[in-house]
Amino acid sequence: MSAAPARARVPTDARTVSVFCAGCRTRLLRYRKGGDGGLVKIRRERIAEDFTDGDLRCPRCGQTFARERGPGGGPAFLIGGKVFTRGLRRR
Ligand SMILES: [Zn+2]
Repeated sequence: MSAAPARARVPTDARTVSVFCAGCRTRLLRYRKGGDGGLVKIRRERIAEDFTDGDLRCPRCGQTFARERGPGGGPAFLIGGKVFTRGLRRR
């Protein structure tokens, strides 16, 4: 892992979580998530790193893991339960 410099403008309650494909365990995104609770939707401007081609599909198995909300629905994507996250909770 390369040590990226800390960036400003990240909410203090945000943590970076890694999002993986539930089917083949490929890492899809690193995402700055605020608050607690599960990851239900994602916003593009909060994506810290995108390992996909930007088409919301797993680059390895081709599964679509998120959907746009539709035209005019805002810049959020709904996660369809096809991913799992790491880093959300401490053990
Ligand atoms: Zn996959």
